[in-house]
Amino acid sequence: MTPSIDEDRLWQSIMDMARIGPTPEGGSCRLALSPEDVQARALLLAWCKPLDLRFQQDAIGNMFLRRDGTEAAAPAVAFGSHLDTVPTGGRFDGVFGVLAGLEVMRALDEAGIRTRASLELVNWTNEEGSRFRPAMMGSRVFAGDMTLEAALAITDDKGTSVQDALRTSGQAGGLAPASHGWACWLEAHIEQGPVMEATGTDIGIVCGTMHARYFQLTVTGEPSHVGPTTMDRRRDSLAAAAEIVLAVERIAYAAEPGGRASATWIENFPNARGNVANITRLHCDVRHEQAERAVAMEAELCSALDGIVARRRVAIDVDPYTTFGPIAFDPSLGSLLRRKAEARQLTTRDMIAAAGHDSVLIAPLCPSAMLFVPSVDGITHNPKEYSTKQQVARGAQVLLDAVLELAS
Ligand SMILES: [Zn+2]
Repeated sequence: MTPSIDEDRLWQSIMDMARIGPTPEGGSCRLALSPEDVQARALLLAWCKPLDLRFQQDAIGNMFLRRDGTEAAAPAVAFGSHLDTVPTGGRFDGVFGVLAGLEVMRALDEAGIRTRASLELVNWTNEEGSRFRPAMMGSRVFAGDMTLEAALAITDDKGTSVQDALRTSGQAGGLAPASHGWACWLEAHIEQGPVMEATGTDIGIVCGTMHARYFQLTVTGEPSHVGPTTMDRRRDSLAAAAEIVLAVERIAYAAEPGGRASATWIENFPNARGNVANITRLHCDVRHEQAERAVAMEAELCSALDGIVARRRVAIDVDPYTTFGPIAFDPSLGSLLRRKAEARQLTTRDMIAAAGHDSVLIAPLCPSAMLFVPSVDGITHNPKEYSTKQQVARGAQVLLDAVLELAS
């Protein structure tokens, strides 16, 4: 008989994890390599202890928990997600994928099943990129998309480097980050959007991802006094940034339904009440289901910037520091997930992921796929983020069923 997910145990684990880095509104804040993130990692390890999993950690802090199969030489079946959150994080983004993976391990342990291939549960470092950019840093370094040296040198807004954060948090492991030669990779995740709920879908089969392009913009004007400096003489970087924010939004509206664009972060100098600002930094991204359209959105943004430069006599430096996707996930793994969901009388729908995920980085290394469970009201990166106990249990069950077939 196929082992079953313990719905209550999975739910309780998600709720227990959410108590680490609690926010007043009921969400979680666990920025990458913060004390809260480290505490979450320790809790995961404590939960894995009775399961006799072999723990390994690489130099970028990625955690690997291995359950040996009967055939040592067979490539492992790997799955997982991330425990770090954004500052306004909910309880499910990333956490669900890691704890669904833990529940797979627990269910197999309980059923006394040893698979042929080994299984590996993974918690990736700094998926969110809120503290250290770029996002998906751990999987990026693991996949060779970024060198370890480059990642270690990156600093947060307070000037702490990834290297120092890893060292002081005790999360710099001994393994060199590199592919583990997995047979395949699966990630369970919440949808973070409204489509599944609106269409009554139980399990989203993620066929691929959008193509996203990320920018750091630095607008440079000239400092001056807010009183005596007449309007025609100003080179106001903050006012120019305001125009950029609206241009980004306009580009996104024009690119709907397949496109999105956002300006999300701003830093302003001297940020003093009596001064016209002279340096303003902005972070933004454009994304679209079709790669060419994302490139076109970038071109629109650049031409908007040219107009602002000309009109406002500011300089704008564009650092297009990273991209992700588009990735087409493995169709046969997608079919397997669909078949497993249908065997449980669950409804499925093929979907494109609009958010970045570690799976995007892993897909070039081995056959990879993702499954989604519904997000109530599509709310995410928000304390109100919610999926029901039944929804997460169903997702974990399909993950377990797929893992069992793949590792047999
Ligand atoms: Zn996530």
